[in-house]
Amino acid sequence: MTKTGVLEHAIKLVQCESVTPLEGGALDYLQQVLESLEFECWRLPFSEEGTPDVDNLYARLGTGAPHICFAGHTDVVPVGEVTDWQHPPFDAVINDGVLHGRGTADMKGSIACFVAAVEDYLAQKSAPAGSISLLITGDEEGPAINGTKKMLGWREEKGEKIDHCIVGEPTNPAKIGEMIKIGRRGSLNGTLTIIGKQGHVAYQHLAHNPIEGLATVISKILAEPLDKGTDTFMPSNLEFTNIEVNNEAVNVIPARASARFNIRFNDAHTPASLEQLIRNRVAAALAGSPFQSELSLALSGESFVTSVENELVALLSGAIRDITGLEPELSTTGGTSDARFIKDHCPVIEFGLVNKTIHQVNEQVPVEHLEVLTKIYRRFLEDYFRAGV
Ligand SMILES: [Zn+2]
Repeated sequence: MTKTGVLEHAIKLVQCESVTPLEGGALDYLQQVLESLEFECWRLPFSEEGTPDVDNLYARLGTGAPHICFAGHTDVVPVGEVTDWQHPPFDAVINDGVLHGRGTADMKGSIACFVAAVEDYLAQKSAPAGSISLLITGDEEGPAINGTKKMLGWREEKGEKIDHCIVGEPTNPAKIGEMIKIGRRGSLNGTLTIIGKQGHVAYQHLAHNPIEGLATVISKILAEPLDKGTDTFMPSNLEFTNIEVNNEAVNVIPARASARFNIRFNDAHTPASLEQLIRNRVAAALAGSPFQSELSLALSGESFVTSVENELVALLSGAIRDITGLEPELSTTGGTSDARFIKDHCPVIEFGLVNKTIHQVNEQVPVEHLEVLTKIYRRFLEDYFRAGV
């Protein structure tokens, strides 16, 4: 039952053209399946000026505790050149035991696995000794303004309490069971502008070339690491992503030069401590020079980590061990995800499919991976409600 269940759900979901922010029928399909399992469903469309309107789905079965929530997204990134794909990205073609299509790994596949696991659990147990919910957004690959964050706010106003959450993002490098994400680094974007004095290239002594100032500052910022890493995180990293001078003329020393950068930071830092550190290095680099500087920073997500002691980690690790024989690495690597919003509400960890082909052409998932992940989620549900955490 599980086998045909998960594959059918995965195919139906992949066939919905839900390129962010479009719903594409994916939430409709999920709602119909979950209602047939007697979940209560709420569609939660949100809008905000300057951002796309987004539809979302919250579904809950049961009213008691403990309450486990599965969080995910049905929106997918654009496909790029359709002709670059071996199989059309929304046809959900199965070839040689592999399901092809946009969203197969990130992350309609894992949603299908969770739904199939719940179906199987209910077929055997009739009702959970607590509550199961699905928090599914259509705004994870987009600006993430009208999705998970607002759904969590709505849920809080309604007095809904979630005890634990698993986000089904693809976390495994190659095999199912290799890696659980227990936290994520924070992300901070910055722009640094050096202001010099404009002038003629032939009269350089009358000008101050900000490109020289910027080069000095960049060297100084990169000369030493931001930190040494912590127990659960790798060292924070600052990466310059763009340099802009905007100078059309060949005989003019420009007045300004800017660099953009992104910092992925661990729990040794806060946005404020990073700002101070950058400002100190800029000041040291420019001491005694004629240059001025401007720095602007924008936070896109704080770092967070769920304790390895948390029962959620032990239960999911145990289920993975039972089904695959692997001991999952508890990692904090990778980009940001909606777990950054959920961590303010309950303990959250992430576990899903293999992330090797996500956001690429020819995104794909072996059918066997879908079956193994379904079994892991199924075992987790069993253990979770038995433990009554
Ligand atoms: Zn994703």
